This record gives sequence, C-alpha cells and structure tokens, in this order.
Amino acid sequence: MRLLPFLDLGRLHRSIRDPLDEAYRRVVDSGWFIMGPELEAFEAEFARYCEVRHCIGVGNGLEALHLLLRAYGIGPGDEVIVPSNTFIATWLAVTECGATPVPVEPNIETHNIDPGLIAAALSKRTRAIIPVHLYGQPANMDPINELAARHGLIVIEDAAQAQGARYKGRRAGSLGAAAATSFYPGKNLGALGDGGAVLTDDDAIAEQVRQLRNYGSKVKYQHDLAGYNSRLDELQAAFLRTKLAVLDGWNARRGEIAGRYSQLLANTAISLPAVPDDADPVWHLYVIRSKNRDALKANLEQQGIATVIHYPVPPHRQGCYPEFAGRQLPVSETLANEVLSLPMDPLMTFADVERVADAIRKFASVDGEMLGQ
Ligand SMILES: *Cc1c(COP(=O)(O)O)cnc(C)c1O
Repeated sequence: MRLLPFLDLGRLHRSIRDPLDEAYRRVVDSGWFIMGPELEAFEAEFARYCEVRHCIGVGNGLEALHLLLRAYGIGPGDEVIVPSNTFIATWLAVTECGATPVPVEPNIETHNIDPGLIAAALSKRTRAIIPVHLYGQPANMDPINELAARHGLIVIEDAAQAQGARYKGRRAGSLGAAAATSFYPGKNLGALGDGGAVLTDDDAIAEQVRQLRNYGSKVKYQHDLAGYNSRLDELQAAFLRTKLAVLDGWNARRGEIAGRYSQLLANTAISLPAVPDDADPVWHLYVIRSKNRDALKANLEQQGIATVIHYPVPPHRQGCYPEFAGRQLPVSETLANEVLSLPMDPLMTFADVERVADAIRKFASVDGEMLGQ
C-alpha cells in the first residue's frame, strides 16, 4: 500500500532544488546573514506581490501580529475581536500584549468570522478586529471594514494562510489597515524554517514595526523603544524569494486539486468547503465536515491516506485560557468535532485526489446506510 502523505515538503523542495541551492550559495558567499540585501529584496518583491507599500520581515507569524498590535499601542485594558475558530496564535498575540481577546463565532459554511455577530461583541474598550483568512479563504472584509470605520476600530488581517488569495480582486494582506503573515514551512509561501511579515500601506506603522523588530532601534545602539529581536534572516529571505517565484503556479495547482475534490465529493453526506462569489481562495487547506469525522479519519488512515484536523481544540478550550473554559461557542465546537483536512499538496496528481475521494465516497455510503440515511 502506497502511503499518501498530507503534504510532502521534501518532494516539493526537491522540485526547486537548483534555485534553492543557488539562493543558499548566494547568502553563504555574501557573508551577510541578518538585515541585508536578500531581506531588502524580498520585502520589496512581496510588498509588490501583495499590492501594499510596505513589507517588514519578522521572526514568525505570531510576532508579526504581536508587533503590529504593539505598533498600534494596543495593551492592557484593550479588547480585540478575534475569531473563535482560528489557530491559537491569533489569540496569543492579543494576550501577549496584555489585551483581552473577544471571540466571535464563524459562519459555519465559510468557517470565517461572521461579520453580523461582531457588533454585539463590541464594548467601549474594543480597539481592533483581527479577521483571519482561514484555510486560504478570504474573510468577508467589506462589512468588517464598514463596522470598524463606524466605531473607529483598527482592522488587522491574519493572512498567515492566505498568501496570494484575493477578495473582490484585491490581495489578502491589503484589505485592512495592516496584515500579518507567516512563512512557517507548511504555509502556501513557506520558508525552510520560521519566518513572518507585516504588510501595510501605513508609513508610520511600518516604521514602528521596523524599529520594534530590531531592538527598538532606528540608529545602531540607540533604543527609543523597548523592542524585540524578531527578524527574518538572509537565508530565509533568499529561500522565500525563490519560492515566491513559484507561488502562483503552486496556488493554481491547489485550486485544481480543490476543484477536483469538490467534483468527486458532490452529493455525499460530506459537507464541502463553500466559496463565496467575491472570494478567490488559495486552498491552504481543503477542509470537509462529517458527523462521523473520527471514524472517517481512522478509515482513511487504514488505507494509507493521511489527514489532519485543523483544529481539534478551539482556543477557548485550551489549558492556557482557563478564563474562557466556561464560554459557550457552539459553532466552533461543532467545527472542532467535524472538520477534516484532506491531503493538499501542489505536486499531488489527480490519481491521488481520486484515491482519496473514492475512499471517502465508499465510507460515506456505508456510513449513510448505517445511519439509515
Ligand atoms: C501559522 C499561523 C499563525 C502563526 O504563524 P507562525 O509563523 O507559526 O508563528 C498565525 N495565524 C494563523 C491563522 C496561522 O495559520
């Protein structure tokens, strides 16, 4: 039985081995490893790609969010609207600043924050909203931006899963006041290690983040802010330049794979991802829902097909947030019990996709009979 991995990063990188080797050699030969020409070039290239004025490379996605919140002066006593259904980093960035995350439930079809539920979650202390483009699907940004403008709130996108996605023709990362993204290896644009970036059109915020990432310093050995050491190193910047050149091709292939999954899995008991008309997603993940998720996952595993759950435990149920333990967030809890991410890898073949879909259809029909459907 041939194993079908969830994502084969080794194979993906072997397919661009020569340009990666050349990027490595360029950095080693230059003798310059932090805050040099590769970072400067990558920042310019990725800013252009995301259609914003500024890209600031930082240590990782969590730090990108955290530095942005600090740059906006968000801290103790402030509240920040976050999706109840997201990776923990969105919440951790808020608590790291001493501010309070205020969770808002998602739309169960898109899995993204439901803009209609935000108004009820606002208070006098609310300062910002962090919509997440979960699984590579842009959040419904227009109503979020309108609400934010009416209440004087800052909109910070968490675009960690959405490099290249578009909403109404505009790039993820350019849809709010500022955005944070992650180059964790498994992301659509992944480094060969940790990395992240802040994106914004705001000159003053860009300047603040540049300063914060580098010990709070604008001039060497002069520290006007108590900053951090959170920089995207030259080696990662060079690898990211190489991978940015193939991102659109890989995203397009993800789209073909998603389209094939949706075709093959239509008319089963499985819920498929919904794509709003105004969204152009990049399929970081292809996430289905099943009432019998755990049995389905085990069944696929027996057939050598790897799947992952994003995410099995929502942030409010995590041990690090005992203050949220009693909160009822039923949509997020349902999603945590039902979601399953299918293999998604730009180098998957349609035969691989068919193998996964066949196994799911077989399970769903037997499962449906058992349930008397
Ligand atoms: C990956 C991710 C992050 C954090 O990025 P890191 O680089 O791992 O710190 C934040 N938000 C979301 C939605 C993510 O998927």
